[in-house]
Amino acid sequence: MIEVLNLQKVFRSSVVETWALNDVSFQVADGEFVAIMGPSGCGKSTLLNILGLLDNPTGGSYKLQGMEMSGLDENSRTNIRKGLIGFVFQSFNLIDELNVRENIELPLLYMGMSAAERHRRVGEVMDRMNISHREKHFPGQLSGGQQQRVAIARAVIAEPRLILADEPTGNLDSVNGQDVMNLLSELNQHGTTVVMVTHNRHDASYANRIINLFDGSIVEELPL
Ligand code: ADP
Ligand code: MG
Repeated sequence: MIEVLNLQKVFRSSVVETWALNDVSFQVADGEFVAIMGPSGCGKSTLLNILGLLDNPTGGSYKLQGMEMSGLDENSRTNIRKGLIGFVFQSFNLIDELNVRENIELPLLYMGMSAAERHRRVGEVMDRMNISHREKHFPGQLSGGQQQRVAIARAVIAEPRLILADEPTGNLDSVNGQDVMNLLSELNQHGTTVVMVTHNRHDASYANRIINLFDGSIVEELPL
């Protein structure tokens, strides 16, 4: 499903140049559950954003289902993303003006689903994520953990083939974190490909495979 070859990402400003990714190559097969681990600042979010078509690499190749993604303009990336990918942002990215139900419903609106079916599906996923009692609340009225649960509900509601999650349990207590990991695991068992960034060894144990990143490169093992 994912083939990455010599991927590079350099952030340039007038004063500094940051090599966030340095010749990163790996593949993820359909139906795999892969965890990306590594210390803060090593390029995990940069890599996931590129995989999620939220950003372009500065070099190398990224193929998604056999199609080259690097160099695509933002419109094409957005269209492919909406059809294929559910993204859980490290910083939630909820829309402040929409309540919980409306935030979760957004991907279904893009698909043109009927109002009755949307209502049913959003109700189901809100129950699954323990957030039904807050359906009329706005993001600013929720705790960090509740916002994370809404963000995850929005990422999974359209049943995407690929879920990319950036530290999805980072803001949750252990019970809610466990719920999220069980949900990702269940989706994966039903065929969804999952790539998850995490700091947490316990969360990584849900994955079939771990990719260790250090200073923008893949390493066999993380230095202590
Ligand atoms: P991680 O998610 O592993 O903590 P990031 O991918 O967020 O790390 O960042 C990797 C490196 O790239 C860091 O050194 C960070 O400062 C830099 N970086 C990330 N985003 C930008 C940006 N938009 N502009 C400049 N540098 C950035
Ligand atoms: Mg990060």
